[in-house]
Amino acid sequence: MMRWNQQDINGEQTDALPGLAKLNNLVRTVRTPEFAGMTFYEVLAKSALNKVPGRVPSAVPNTTRTPIASAAFGWTINPMRGCQHACAYCFARPTHGYLDLDAGKDFDTQIIVKVNVAEVLARELAKPSWARQPVAMGTNTDPYQRAEGRYQLMPGIIAVLAESRTPFSILTKGTLLRRDIPLLVEASRETNVELAMSIAIYDDDLQQSVEPGTPTAKARLATVTAVREAGMNCSVFLMPILPFLTDTTEHLDNALQQIKASGASSVLYSSMYLKPGTKEWFMLWLEREHPELVTKYLEFYSGGPYAPVAYRKWLADRIKPLMRKHRLERGREDPITGGPLTPSLLSSSPSSPSLSLSLSSPSPSSPSSLLALARASPETAGRSFSDEELLARESFDNRAATAPQPMLF
Ligand code: SF4
Repeated sequence: MMRWNQQDINGEQTDALPGLAKLNNLVRTVRTPEFAGMTFYEVLAKSALNKVPGRVPSAVPNTTRTPIASAAFGWTINPMRGCQHACAYCFARPTHGYLDLDAGKDFDTQIIVKVNVAEVLARELAKPSWARQPVAMGTNTDPYQRAEGRYQLMPGIIAVLAESRTPFSILTKGTLLRRDIPLLVEASRETNVELAMSIAIYDDDLQQSVEPGTPTAKARLATVTAVREAGMNCSVFLMPILPFLTDTTEHLDNALQQIKASGASSVLYSSMYLKPGTKEWFMLWLEREHPELVTKYLEFYSGGPYAPVAYRKWLADRIKPLMRKHRLERGREDPITGGPLTPSLLSSSPSSPSLSLSLSSPSPSSPSSLLALARASPETAGRSFSDEELLARESFDNRAATAPQPMLF
């Protein structure tokens, strides 16, 4: 195999796509047989931390005992833009439009790499104003996509987060996470670290078709086991569940059995979220691979990006007994960033806007904490919400005006 540094490496490209002219911090472009059909745009980032707007409830309830939503934000780091994992359902696809790149093939093959991300992050974390709020990675593009093997950005990022004692979470489909387990264990001695593996599909043919750039479910489960054997928590995000494709009792039971066997510390689930920009690309895949489902999906998602409420309730009724059967604990998502969330992650961040949520929530799965989560705004967060959060939100919207006590679906 040819080495990376022997490849076609240029400065500004005369044939660059129009939007890429906006990359005035472009260092070079790289194309290599190692990643056939892909182009990497190496840039010098001006910032590493992204502020994500959202809403979380206040710790102070009002007289009707309902949480008061308040403006807040979360923090994320995206060392790359675009993702080689190429999931047809990826809701980050439309973000590629900022460089006039498309949400389809370009998202999978035109990857922006922030080569100085660790240095910039170190400067940002050293500022006296930095309050060590939790930082989520992997909620927009995957930090352990295959190119990370070459760029090795994550070790530097983990090191500076640990040094500044900033709590952080990583959500990934990449088995390359395994490379950094020793570093993550070290980091967890300095700050709280939460890890999660996203594994939606336990049918290899379907997985290779709809997520062609991802490792197999088996390889990802083995990574979960490796993390657990190293003494750290690792959740599994069983999402998205694809209506009519992965929602059978057989598929879910098999998935949960394998998740349990991997030693995963908790599991989160959610049905498919299809927003504009992603929907068009996913429907092309569906027409190609499952044309018999096109009409059903068009009906399902005619009212918005979420599957119908009745379907999500049906799915919850199907999956909850299976989770009990496999003695799996339900995990939580950060209501703003979409990353994994635990009280331990929040408890190390004295000024996190989400801390009040943690302290005011008697337990992660209690009705009041679900209602609290439900008041966060998926529209401002720009991501999908788990079915559990969403159903609680809808339940809240329907009942808050009249019900003095929260109700859980
Ligand atoms: S791994 Fe995540 S970020 Fe990457 S394409 Fe799939 S869903 Fe999108």
